Amino acid sequence: MINIVGSGLSGLSAAITLASNGISCNLISVQEAVRAQSVMAEGGINAALNTMNEDDDVSLHFEDTYKGGAYLGEQSAIKGLTENAVEIVKWLNSIGVPFETKEGKIAWRSCGGQRKKRTAYVKSSTGKMLMSALIDEARKYEIEGLIKRYDHHEVYDLLIENGACKGLKMYDIYTDKAYEVYGPVLLSTGGLTGMFPGLTTGSRDNTGLLVSRLFLKGLKLANLEMIQYHPTTINITGKRLLVSEAARGEGGRFMTYRNNEPYYFMEDMYPEFGNLVTRDVASRAIYKIQHDDSCKGVYLDMTGIDPQVWEGRLSDMRKELLDYINTDISEKPFMIEPGIHYFMGGIRVDDRHRTNIKNLYASGECACKYHGANRLGGNSLLGAIYGGKVAAENIGSDSHNEIMEIANDYVKLNDSYSEKIKEILVSGLGIIRNEESISNSIRQIDELLKSDLNQAQYAKTILAKAMLMSALKRKESRGAHYREDYPETNDDLRKTAVASYKDDILIEYTDIDGGNE
Ligand SMILES: Cc1cc2nc3c(=O)[nH]c(=O)nc-3n(C[C@H](O)[C@H](O)[C@H](O)COP(=O)(O)OP(=O)(O)OC[C@H]3O[C@@H](n4cnc5c(N)ncnc54)[C@H](O)[C@@H]3O)c2cc1C
Repeated sequence: MINIVGSGLSGLSAAITLASNGISCNLISVQEAVRAQSVMAEGGINAALNTMNEDDDVSLHFEDTYKGGAYLGEQSAIKGLTENAVEIVKWLNSIGVPFETKEGKIAWRSCGGQRKKRTAYVKSSTGKMLMSALIDEARKYEIEGLIKRYDHHEVYDLLIENGACKGLKMYDIYTDKAYEVYGPVLLSTGGLTGMFPGLTTGSRDNTGLLVSRLFLKGLKLANLEMIQYHPTTINITGKRLLVSEAARGEGGRFMTYRNNEPYYFMEDMYPEFGNLVTRDVASRAIYKIQHDDSCKGVYLDMTGIDPQVWEGRLSDMRKELLDYINTDISEKPFMIEPGIHYFMGGIRVDDRHRTNIKNLYASGECACKYHGANRLGGNSLLGAIYGGKVAAENIGSDSHNEIMEIANDYVKLNDSYSEKIKEILVSGLGIIRNEESISNSIRQIDELLKSDLNQAQYAKTILAKAMLMSALKRKESRGAHYREDYPETNDDLRKTAVASYKDDILIEYTDIDGGNE
């Protein structure tokens, strides 16, 4: 029996791929699939399908993805991703995703950093619709007994012996009962959101705790310093609310008040892409405006958008923001600020989505594979589905489906501790970084490590230190990683930063080789 941890898009895609090949799997997740972070995705999913004569091509999708990732992504993997995008979007359409169409053909919207309109969407609810279609598809196999779901189960550790994964340890959140389950494991646990509670647009269920524990057991991670700040988020209680890139794709404009006059700064600073610059560039420009005394506030102005678009493509977004910030965004510019949105770095996997631990695979946002130093809007839903499929196709079939009880050695993390780590991390890993701020954060982490920590706290603190050390070591600016003390990109550092742990943390640069060792 194959064990998939996580029932977001990537886990579901893997489960469906396995089941459609007659292979049984357990699909384990903290929450029901309908609550996975994937449902939050608004903007859409990319593919160069060219249905509207956009003059698009897979090679342009490849180039935009590679360039957008500041040349840190792996070319062969991006090639596979962009080539398969076409079939994936057609498949999604065939299983019932009601993509927006024009004259019966899939229509596209613009996303930052892309030269063509190539993002397929369902109003502002693309994630919800993709998940709903995949959940329905998975149900067919559940009936056949090929997929067995374990909702509200948290996987807290893996059984690793002699460098190979033998299974996992999970506990039922409702009963607190713990189990061991045997067989190969695919991790599709989402991004490291839980390292920054309250500061991210993502789901709090993606705590990062399992990955931090596995890091201590030898799991290699990569490019941990590559954290994407999304330029348009709103600070609400307990998290950041995302204003999807669709807002800019449909004509939203960044604005500040300079000398009491509206000033559309992004169009002035970046005439080629204007408001559709990539997320890292937009976030840094906003940071500059926020620190410019002659400017007051940063807003998104969507007042110029056609009324028909508000009725159709942006109706969900308008309603959501009316509910959350009590503003009709079709009538009034509203304040935004950059917030943590996506983790390009994560578990290091090879071209078959294998980790460095035998029988352990990873896919989706928890894995580091396609997005280099910066992820393009619409590419992560694609990466999650494609990665899940590739991983599933490669997982071996020798497994057992025994389940037995074990002693519960799960040690919980308390929230105030996570808050402390977040404060330290964010002061070192902000939009603009430098040696002093990163080193200062590392010193604070070292102090924490001297205190009395339980095993969960210790694991997360070590992972936090590895993230900071990755940022300290990368003495250049590339994509999402901007060092004001090293503002230039250094060609010698076009390498993957691999983090490993054996008695201590080690960060080493290796060629962008896809993790094949
Ligand atoms: C607000 C928002 C909007 C977005 N919009 C877009 C967009 O328009 N286009 C785009 O391409 N991308 C978008 N993204 C990014 C994209 O949604 C995610 O990268 C992608 O959905 C991740 O899918 P996943 O399957 O890897 O992980 P997730 O969907 O995050 O699923 C993770 C799963 O792992 C489970 N899990 C985690 N830890 C454990 C554990 N220890 N034990 C058991 N289960 C566990 C969770 O319960 C969940 O089921 C957006 C993200 C956000 C937050």
